[in-house]
Formats: sequence, structure tokens, C-alpha cells
Amino acid sequence: MHEMSIAVAVVEQVEQAAREHGAVAVEAVRLQVGELAGVVPDALDFCFSLACADTVLAGAELTVEAVPARARCAACATEWAVGMPPDLCCPRCPGVAGELLTGRELQILDVRWAEEPALARADQEG
Ligand SMILES: [Zn+2]
Repeated sequence: MHEMSIAVAVVEQVEQAAREHGAVAVEAVRLQVGELAGVVPDALDFCFSLACADTVLAGAELTVEAVPARARCAACATEWAVGMPPDLCCPRCPGVAGELLTGRELQILDVRWAEEPALARADQEG
């Protein structure tokens, strides 16, 4: 599953950053995902929670920031939102998209570290 490999890669990157920060837990992770990255948000959410289990990310919240796909015409430099499925024909002239400006993003924007693991917090509250 595409989303599972993405989730695992994200968890691995955050784990490495956590080691560098000496962080013991993660509260939230913000991801930037392009419209054309081929990610189903619900599936990613589900895979993320599975991939987080037994890691420093256990209990972390995933926020996905969607980036609309935009292209630029090779002939006249018009920019347009390609949508999904992508429309790569220029709306102004017979040209086609020479360049995809946005839409393929798949990166971690932001990680919020927590003071204590989510499980420890739950123990204290309950
Ligand atoms: Zn054009």
C-alpha cells in the first residue's frame, strides 16, 4: 500500500529528528501533501497511526495540508490549477503544461514535540 510506505517513511524521519532533539514524545506532525502525490488522506491517517505504534510517535496527531496542483504552459506561460484527474492542456492556447509548479509535494512541514509520552499523560489524567 502506497500510504503505508509513506507513513513508515514519515515515522522514520520524525524518529530520527526526535533522537537529534532528545525528544521523548511527539504531539503532532504536519505534512504537506500535493494533490498529485496520489495519497488518500483517510488511508494515510490509518497507516500513520499503525506506523506510530511502539515508537516515540505513539499517540501523535497527523495533520495533512493539501497543496493544489498548478501547471505552467510551455508556450504562453499561463498558470492554471490542473485539478484531479489532472488537465494538462493550456486553457489559453493549444499548448500543454511544460512544468508542474506544485502538486507533487510530500514532506514534513512541522513536528510538535511533547514533554512526555502520550501514555504517561493518559496515566496521570486517569
Ligand atoms: Zn498556453
